[in-house]
Amino acid sequence: MSIALIIPDRKLDDLQQRLQQALPTTPIEIWPDIAKPEHVTFAVVWKQPTGSVASLPNLKALQSFGAGVDGILSDASLPRLPLARIVDPALTEAMLSYLAGIEAYYRLRLDLFQQQQQQALWRPKSPRRLSTLCVLGLGELGTATALHFKAQGYQVNGWSRRPQQLAGVHCFAGTEQLAAAVGSADLLICLLPLTAQTENLLNADFFAMLKPGAILINVARGAIVDEQALLAALDSGQLAAACLDVFRQEPLVAEHAFWRHPAIMITPHISAVTKVETVVAQIAENYQRSCQGQSLVNEVDLQQGY
Ligand code: NAP
Repeated sequence: MSIALIIPDRKLDDLQQRLQQALPTTPIEIWPDIAKPEHVTFAVVWKQPTGSVASLPNLKALQSFGAGVDGILSDASLPRLPLARIVDPALTEAMLSYLAGIEAYYRLRLDLFQQQQQQALWRPKSPRRLSTLCVLGLGELGTATALHFKAQGYQVNGWSRRPQQLAGVHCFAGTEQLAAAVGSADLLICLLPLTAQTENLLNADFFAMLKPGAILINVARGAIVDEQALLAALDSGQLAAACLDVFRQEPLVAEHAFWRHPAIMITPHISAVTKVETVVAQIAENYQRSCQGQSLVNEVDLQQGY
């Protein structure tokens, strides 16, 4: 029995060494250098080349190297196997730190002062009055985000697929309650998974539901946003600004209109990056669970796609 690491865009020496320490007797190989594909029973996967997982005939389970699984499930040749994802307090902490920074950026109008600096304009302005915030998605990251901003004094609305209860947060659920969840928000934070239901959810109809002058932060997945509708909402002033960490196509191509739009801030998918040192233990545990035929920790609902 062996483990394959199928993560083409990352140096894997550290992950391989740390996993080897946790599982000293298990061979851990880096794809595509797999000596005996038939020996591989567990694969750690992220942005895998199409067909790479299917080329391992005796897999028992898969582990995403990140919190999301949309990129893994988009491979049509993927065998239907138990799939776990990363849930890590360090990842949540990183996301909260990013969101706190972006919230302060807009509240203090640093976006405006940055534009003014380019024209040598000295025009003081008091902070934006941001009082209501809506978090789309109340999962691991969305719940922590809602509670963080609640503690900062925001009135917080949260929106999820199934009804939820969260102390101090106004919870809404399902398509029929989306307008009520977002309609009063000054700041919207998208933390939904990308699924067939959420693709292009942030479209022209969605932007029309918002309070004029709202600000969007998308740290979930690019394909949840209809790009043309976003640009139209920014150009009309329906949205005052958008901070985007994720994109339909990554890296964002140099010609893309987002790069040069004055109301868009771009970060290169860095809001919460998996740290090898904090996730090795859960990967090793899931490998051992798969060997014993047990369910995985943080297993994904394949039917729902998240
Ligand atoms: P999660 O725990 O799976 O939570 C997902 C939340 O979205 C749940 O509250 C779920 O509702 C809700 N949801 C799913 N489908 C919905 C729908 N159709 N309508 C309304 N609500 C829906 O996910 P997470 O760990 O918080 O992560 C969220 C996403 O963040 C990930 O999928 C990933 O794409 C992204 N992410 C990005 C970065 C980055 O660096 N930018 C890092 C980590 C994660 P229920 O509660 O009813 O199930």
